[in-house]
Amino acid sequence: MSNLEIDPTPVVCSSGDEAPGLVEILEPREVPLGGPRAMDVRRTLPQRSRSLIGAWCFLDHYGPEPVGVSGGMFVPPHPHTGLQTVSWLFAGEIEHRDSAGNHALIRPGQLNLMTAGSGISHSEVATPAATMMHGVQLWLALPDATRHTDRTFEHYAPEPVAGDGYTLSVFLGTFGGATSPVATHSPLVGAELRLAAGHSASFEVQPGFEHGILVDSGSVEVNGTAAAARELAYVAPGATTLEVTATGDGPATLIVIGGEPFDEDIVMWWNFVGRTHEEIVEFRAAWAAELEPAAEPANGAPRFGLPPDSGLRPLPAPVLPNARLRPRTRNGHPRHA
Ligand code: MN
Repeated sequence: MSNLEIDPTPVVCSSGDEAPGLVEILEPREVPLGGPRAMDVRRTLPQRSRSLIGAWCFLDHYGPEPVGVSGGMFVPPHPHTGLQTVSWLFAGEIEHRDSAGNHALIRPGQLNLMTAGSGISHSEVATPAATMMHGVQLWLALPDATRHTDRTFEHYAPEPVAGDGYTLSVFLGTFGGATSPVATHSPLVGAELRLAAGHSASFEVQPGFEHGILVDSGSVEVNGTAAAARELAYVAPGATTLEVTATGDGPATLIVIGGEPFDEDIVMWWNFVGRTHEEIVEFRAAWAAELEPAAEPANGAPRFGLPPDSGLRPLPAPVLPNARLRPRTRNGHPRHA
């Protein structure tokens, strides 16, 4: 997934204070994924009032949509820095190729985790086998201590755990008694929760975590607050329980994310996460230089590289805004000194 907004809004994210356990409903905005075959996605992170939930700094939700209508997902090679991409499908199939040489098929119910570290590029294209596209892509900000790590790609298919009226697939961290073996760079959780119609499920959570519950389908209440399909219910730190109830006529499918509030200012622009305006300028220039037809190999390996055999023309970076990329806090409030 690439952030293909024509004029991507610079976002600097930092932590703030909320009332303990506060539940707040975040609305999605429709964003064209772009490319020759455009598919719309619903973006619930980042937004003006909420930039991060734990280290989760980006949430795109798409489908269910017949591929015949939209053309499905078609994202040529593009770069990333300082983040991990988490791909999770409800339906469909995506072919992933990256500049670390990984080639993988992304399928429903399976975590595909790409670590950009200091730089990677990848392409994501719906396969001919995909008749529906339905899923999410999220990004995790890497903490300063490990954000320059090597590029990697990991795959994990969690065994779904059945509870009373629910099924849970934990793909990162620990939730509802299940733990993913995949290492994380900060304390966090990611899971798919399927609730049967009319059922409630209650999970103990770490009070130091904040959480987000994306409603894929159905309608629910999260700790007593109603959330409709496509909305993201934010739960501030301080809650010791997440109680989720399917309130509509049918079942509900949810993505649960959470983590310790990410206490570092980050600068997000296009597909880059950095710490300063200057760093983002440098990342953009490095990608542009690698796309020059007569690019001389730099000393050492290129920052990003290209996936071998993608057969697709890489995406050029958009033009940087005239203004410097300026800090703004994670929840829209002034940062206290
Ligand atoms: Mn991407």
